[in-house]
Amino acid sequence: MKVPLLDLQAQYAAIRDEVLEAVVRVCDSQRFIMGPEVEALEAELASALGVGHAIGVSSGTDALLVSMMALGVGPGDEVITSAYSFFATVGCIIRLGARPVLVDIEPDGFNIDPAAVERAISPRTKAIVPVHLFGQAAEIEAIVDAARAAASKGVSSPAVIEDACQAIGARHGQRAVGGFGDAGCFSFFPSKNLGAFGDGGLVTTNDGRLADRIRALRNHGAERKYHHSLVGGNFRLDALQAAVLRVKARHLGKWTEARRLNADRYRALFAAAGLDGVVRLPVELPHRYHIYNQFVVRVEAGRRDGLRSHLERSGIGTEIYYPIPFHLQECLRELGYAPGSFPEAEVAAATSLALPIYGELTEAAQEYVVASIAEFLGG
Ligand SMILES: *Cc1c(COP(=O)(O)O)cnc(C)c1O
Repeated sequence: MKVPLLDLQAQYAAIRDEVLEAVVRVCDSQRFIMGPEVEALEAELASALGVGHAIGVSSGTDALLVSMMALGVGPGDEVITSAYSFFATVGCIIRLGARPVLVDIEPDGFNIDPAAVERAISPRTKAIVPVHLFGQAAEIEAIVDAARAAASKGVSSPAVIEDACQAIGARHGQRAVGGFGDAGCFSFFPSKNLGAFGDGGLVTTNDGRLADRIRALRNHGAERKYHHSLVGGNFRLDALQAAVLRVKARHLGKWTEARRLNADRYRALFAAAGLDGVVRLPVELPHRYHIYNQFVVRVEAGRRDGLRSHLERSGIGTEIYYPIPFHLQECLRELGYAPGSFPEAEVAAATSLALPIYGELTEAAQEYVVASIAEFLGG
């Protein structure tokens, strides 16, 4: 049996007619840059996410970059973020000339440790970038509180920029991520829960002035054509992508529910196979709505890579998110961290393995995945 890590064909087959109709609509209009499709998508997603403003941009990476630009991150600034995420999170900080101040993750999860964030705040902290990794909300309220509390200690309050690239629709309590901090950043990379037919991204904010700045920056800093109040870039979202995303956004809720059901089914199957203790399943924290962009299990470090090869031979796709934490990346050596600087991130890098979790995954496929794991680890 073949079980890929992600299969977008099944999802596409179910919405093909709707999507093609939307694509034809844009082609017939011959309006490809900004325009009504982008505006409609922004309004629909702002409403779905419960935020005041949503701004379509060219990618999740550019969502992070333009948010940091709009909040004035630059040389001399420190930006606190997790040692364990996709590279874009830290890359944007460095591209703006600021210094990333890395912080370890929590031992039982994959998200940044809020107590460590609080300790890392200094008078130079310009922003904090928590990541809602794999689709589960970080301790975002504690982090926002720590940022606000910094102000009372005479430090100017750092901005909070949520990297919600993997977490569209995830909630902490009743509220969707992306609406807690000053800005929320989303990615429409095809493998995210809401994936475009190419690159795309979104910035959310409840601050109208910040929204205006971001809108200007995404179009070379021009609020009016050829009048540049700021130096921005081309961070625009294509009308074609927006049209596709509008169709897909209508299905997102049910796709997310299907992923959550698959997560529950894995839990039952692993328990039935007697693998609970051998394979550590992702912890679902209380008051969280996890959207399972990834279902990442942990396996003893010495056996993880062997398990991965065994699954590959069995036709099962897996991935390691992420094999090298930021502080051990070659291009970040100058930051002066060393092995041991962030032990929890290092353990996660050595033990984590993402299993197929996409909504169209069948029960038979999940049974096969768990049986193949049991075969290798001995259930
Ligand atoms: C995908 C992702 C990004 C970058 O998004 P792109 O759209 O690929 O540029 C940033 N941060 C995290 C955590 C991501 O998963």
